[in-house]
Amino acid sequence: MFGGRSYPLPRCWSFYIFICVICQFFFYLVILRNRIHAEKPRSEWLPHENNSDWRRFISRGPKRSEEYYQYNLQLSNTLEAIRDVPRTRHASCDSHTYSLPPSRQAQVSVVISFHNEARSMLLRTIISLLRRTPTDYLHEIILVDDASQDKTLFEDLRPGLGSQGRPWFFFLTNQRRKGLIWSRNMGAIQASGDYVLFLDSHCEVNEGWLEPLLERLALKPNLAVSPVLDLIDPVTLGYKKGNELLKGGFDWSLHFHWLKRDLANQELPEHPFKSPVSSGGVLMMSRKWFLKLGSFNSNLKIWGGESIELAIKLWLCGGQIEIVPCSRIGHIFRRHHAFDFPPHSHEQQQQHHQQEEEQELELSPAQATYLHNSKIIAESWLDDYKNMFYALKPAARRIPLNHTFHQLHQLRTELQCHRFDWYLRHVSPELSLMLYEFAATGTLRNEDRCLHHPGVKDSRQQLILVNCYRDDITQWSLFRSTGQLSTQREFCLGVDLHQEVTLKPCLRMNNTASMSQQWHRMDTHLVHNETHLCLENPVQDRLVLAPCRWHAVSQSFQFSLEMERQT
Ligand code: UDP
Ligand code: MN
Repeated sequence: MFGGRSYPLPRCWSFYIFICVICQFFFYLVILRNRIHAEKPRSEWLPHENNSDWRRFISRGPKRSEEYYQYNLQLSNTLEAIRDVPRTRHASCDSHTYSLPPSRQAQVSVVISFHNEARSMLLRTIISLLRRTPTDYLHEIILVDDASQDKTLFEDLRPGLGSQGRPWFFFLTNQRRKGLIWSRNMGAIQASGDYVLFLDSHCEVNEGWLEPLLERLALKPNLAVSPVLDLIDPVTLGYKKGNELLKGGFDWSLHFHWLKRDLANQELPEHPFKSPVSSGGVLMMSRKWFLKLGSFNSNLKIWGGESIELAIKLWLCGGQIEIVPCSRIGHIFRRHHAFDFPPHSHEQQQQHHQQEEEQELELSPAQATYLHNSKIIAESWLDDYKNMFYALKPAARRIPLNHTFHQLHQLRTELQCHRFDWYLRHVSPELSLMLYEFAATGTLRNEDRCLHHPGVKDSRQQLILVNCYRDDITQWSLFRSTGQLSTQREFCLGVDLHQEVTLKPCLRMNNTASMSQQWHRMDTHLVHNETHLCLENPVQDRLVLAPCRWHAVSQSFQFSLEMERQT
């Protein structure tokens, strides 16, 4: 049919096919190269121990003492940028198959705010994240430098981290010190991931830290999760397993505490468990939910109370908090703050007034900040139970607040938040127990002065009567069951063989000598059970036992909170 004329096309075709194959080959080569480049973990081209870049980066930091950082700086500088840490989670966590949401729906933004962190420590935090987080899920790392003194840190860090590809890095700098709370909020606003993780700048995430958290968050959108925090020793930098049998909580002074938890029948210690407060400040949750809850309360200053405030808000307004023991993050627990608390107010005049007030109350800036923040929590969320807080922290009444609670009331209505007694009933029975355990609690006042124990030595002379508004004023508790009158340091008021008033470590109730530490209330008097004599303050700073005289002012003692008066 088509014979007769021979066309040159077939030869031409083979030529075109040859060209196409060559083109395709190059095309795939380019794509493959790009893919390899895109998937190359960023940490590979990060500075590491034998890399002079890493050494140079550290050596360019300011020279400071260990006291400045409150951990072993020298050791941190000599350790590798990434080191092996012990597997601290339960073995069953490794064999479990985690049901993870698709990565496009679970992009994680990490927010790290820091003030004067050592370079080696900050970088170790970042590199552990890069090495031990599945690349698909790690969207970005947002670093907020809260006016650190190391002014060239970001400049020196940026080239090592590269500028293209995931995870994206953002470098935010506060020219003036704004504090952790403001800075974390800023980071969350800047973030664009589905979830936000707040992390301290002296952490090392352990292998497989993210998957157990994501699995839980995918199940409950209004959940906030924390890993179990492993302990990095500030002196040896040794990495030790944290305790999965502890949950986060607080007392009526609004101080954070770790609380022992009981395992329910069949409950394994490695299972996720509900917690009244998250583990310290390390917390991950939906970014939108965090913003909807009003972020960390922006009226809180600098540092302190923010995780308690967020926890109460979460629980009362439809969320939950879980600690997930299969997720482990090491954190340096420092003994003291490594930073100062600047007096902090926008208006000069208010600041001046506030400083005067603080001086009069003999408060350090740290104590004043803590009281200020706690007062906001009490006023925002505790309803009538705020009186419990004021009873224990009378000085807080005199701390001025410079804002109204209008926005907060709006939030409570909008999200139909429960009242605080719901938290007591459903979230923290420990806190409500503290209400019923005591017959009376708080400061112990005689006329215009309060009974105070300044030291830990058990000598009688240690008991003095001082201004009731001192921030460190001793809090006393009269236990309903034992009749013991105890300080927070567990020293009990007692009577010795010479009928002198003593302060000694509290005795157990099965100890026969414990009778000497038993008291009861008769109107405003404190009557010693064994001798039937009354506590009296006849002259300044002297406490004696004397026959009860019901109208004697020197025998009248008031607790700041009487649960029930026994007459
Ligand atoms: N931080 C901050 N600004 C401040 C105080 C603290 O950014 O004004 C940072 C600090 O560097 C750390 C985090 O907040 O990364 C938590 O502070 P810290 O570790 O001292 O608290 P702790 O872990 O002792 O509760
Ligand atoms: Mn910390």
